[in-house]
Amino acid sequence: MKHIPFNKPFIIGRELALIADAVERGHLSGDGTYTKLCHRWFEERLECRKALLTHSCTAALEMAAILCDIQPGDEVILPSYTFVSTANAFVLRGAVPVFVDIRPDTLNLDEMLIEAAITPKTKVVVPVHYAGVPCEMDEIMDIARRHSLLVVEDAAQALLSTYKDKALGTIGHFGCLSFHETKNIISGEGGALLVNDARFVGRAEVIREKGTNRSQFFRGEVDKYTWVDIGSSYLPGELVSAFLYAQLEHSDEITAQRCRICSAYAEQLALLEKAGKLRLPRFDADSNGHMFYILLDSLATRTALIAHLKAQDIYPVFHYVPLHSSPAGHKYGRVSGNMQVTDSLSERLLRLPLHYEMDDADVARISTAIRGFF
Ligand SMILES: *Cc1c(COP(=O)(O)O)cnc(C)c1O
Repeated sequence: MKHIPFNKPFIIGRELALIADAVERGHLSGDGTYTKLCHRWFEERLECRKALLTHSCTAALEMAAILCDIQPGDEVILPSYTFVSTANAFVLRGAVPVFVDIRPDTLNLDEMLIEAAITPKTKVVVPVHYAGVPCEMDEIMDIARRHSLLVVEDAAQALLSTYKDKALGTIGHFGCLSFHETKNIISGEGGALLVNDARFVGRAEVIREKGTNRSQFFRGEVDKYTWVDIGSSYLPGELVSAFLYAQLEHSDEITAQRCRICSAYAEQLALLEKAGKLRLPRFDADSNGHMFYILLDSLATRTALIAHLKAQDIYPVFHYVPLHSSPAGHKYGRVSGNMQVTDSLSERLLRLPLHYEMDDADVARISTAIRGFF
């Protein structure tokens, strides 16, 4: 019986050749040929003001928190159903994460609940595009404008998804992408900060380069290279950028393959949904096939189904422990309103295996195993 892991990192094109080329070029630290090629790729393809590669999406979120000028006690509105870094990046700057509930259909931040969570201390809203499905960005940007808030899109899962023809990550003031090996386009660890508001570009370069004006110096804009602001080392080395660039060359193929797998799952499991056994994700043409999950009727069913599939060498995984119920969430954050949808769905959601090298036979076998369970 073939082992079907939840995720499997893959190589699709020139990854190893470009790494060798980077070595031959004799520049392995940051901001060499391949990093610049990646920057240009994101700026042209996504149509964003400035793209800066980072060593992770976590790093991009931390940069965004610095750029938002978060001061101790400032509040940041975000979903509880997200990865730790969405909140932690702001907590590192002394902010209080204020968790709001998610929509039952997309599992994204419920835009209708944002205004009730706003206080005089609120500075930022962080929509997370769960599973690569877009948040209601028009409403969110409108609320932000009316209350003078900044918007940081956590687009870690959302590369090449769109909202009304705009790339996710390019709508808020900042967008944060991830190329972690579990995402669509990978470089092992990796990320990018998209700076969509020209006011922040100069400072973003400084923060990423240890608080120095090194980028300006290399462009000949200043005659000394020195310490000018706070910052850290947020840039990846060229080996990572070379790998990433090779993946970007095949980004459409990768996205299409993931979408194909999602459609195959949806087709295979449609009858179970009709019979009321499970619920399938909302699935639109504007999303990138990042994730295929099923929603079960209870935690007990989920636990039993995981055991059933593991016995057949199939490895599904559940997802986030809601941050508002985590030890650090209690310590650093607070809840606005109730967390009914978050608490209920997080216990019942199961992510099915989904990676580039899966084929129709794998989807059929997993689906047959799920039907067998019911
Ligand atoms: C993966 C992920 C992150 C973190 O990305 P890294 O590149 O691993 O730092 C942040 N937010 C969300 C929603 C994610 O899915």
